[in-house]
Amino acid sequence: MSWDKVRVAIQEACVRLEAEGLVAEASGNVSVRLPSKDGRDLVAITPSQVPYRKLRPEQILIIDYERNVIDGEGKPSSESVTHLTAYRARADVGAVIHSHSVYASALAVAGQGIPALIDEQVVTLGGEVQVAEFGMSASQDLADNAVKALELRQAVLLRSHGALSVGRDLDEVLAVAALVERMAKIYILARTLGEPLKLPAKIVELEIKFYRMQHGFPAED
Ligand SMILES: [Zn+2]
Repeated sequence: MSWDKVRVAIQEACVRLEAEGLVAEASGNVSVRLPSKDGRDLVAITPSQVPYRKLRPEQILIIDYERNVIDGEGKPSSESVTHLTAYRARADVGAVIHSHSVYASALAVAGQGIPALIDEQVVTLGGEVQVAEFGMSASQDLADNAVKALELRQAVLLRSHGALSVGRDLDEVLAVAALVERMAKIYILARTLGEPLKLPAKIVELEIKFYRMQHGFPAED
């Protein structure tokens, strides 16, 4: 896919994320891993502080892994450190979304992860959603803590901040980000009715095996 096509796809993803209430104004960010060029690993990423409703595809920046802008004008998203750390840590990750959606952020602020509640969650996200240790916005600490808590799963909550979702491509990460928010909402609502039932451990184990097989991960840690 050409850089121009990737830029359009990211801009369209931002429109969708805003329509679904997963991001607002200029908060959150989206990136896609690009094929390396002249031996350089590259990523297309949303710019810093441009409101989504005003974002044009040409404002999406192409950066290298040292955050140098290779193509485009402006500053890459302040959370690009976290995106790049996820790409470095996981060869399977092709796209990343960082969002400040309300329900996921509420759990992140409470320091509470999402246990394995629903089959779809386990087979899509890889199990429970953990809360990463605190790191200041835009810092390498935040990035390292996020990737550590993410392990081989597709989503993690960033303590006192928001959520980080990864996927093999843009379509997958959009579905992951939406599911994280839906699971956070379900968990919070279910708790108003009593103690939510967790999936049986045996089922979770089988579903995690299935998830790992789908992603080509080793069956065990
Ligand atoms: Zn953020």
